[in-house]
Amino acid sequence: MAEVENNIDCPFCRSGIKDLSFFENEDFSAIYNVAPILPGHALVIPKKHITSFLDLPDKDLFEFIKFSRTVIKILSKAFNTEAFNWTLQEKDEAGQSIAHMHIHIIPRKPEDLPHPGDWYPKLKYNINNILDSHKREKLKPEQLKVIVEKLQDISAGIIK
Ligand SMILES: [Zn+2]
Repeated sequence: MAEVENNIDCPFCRSGIKDLSFFENEDFSAIYNVAPILPGHALVIPKKHITSFLDLPDKDLFEFIKFSRTVIKILSKAFNTEAFNWTLQEKDEAGQSIAHMHIHIIPRKPEDLPHPGDWYPKLKYNINNILDSHKREKLKPEQLKVIVEKLQDISAGIIK
């Protein structure tokens, strides 16, 4: 991946994010959302501070998609479903609230929301919870630890 300086003001570049990581390789990391809009809500991020999907080097595109698909398999197994949403928001106008490229992967279950598309409005306010714990309910550290460790175990089984 191209050399990009990490940004100390970016929540995805801070070292604390490692506690939420359940799967990673040299260039990408899968992290559990501290305030999931549905169980299993995870994010895939490049480890380097890349703001835009359009800045992701061509040579990394295949790896990004392949990595993300493995994350989907991990979440599918952990949350016992093959249904999922996947979304990327590019720039403020589209709802990108952290200027470090990330995709959301959200496992889905029958009737988990009144309408299948109801997840999207929830997303807009969700990512800020990584920064602001008062707006919506965050998982407690011990709850997160249990989920992240389960996902790490499943990852190890899928990847070996
Ligand atoms: Zn960053």
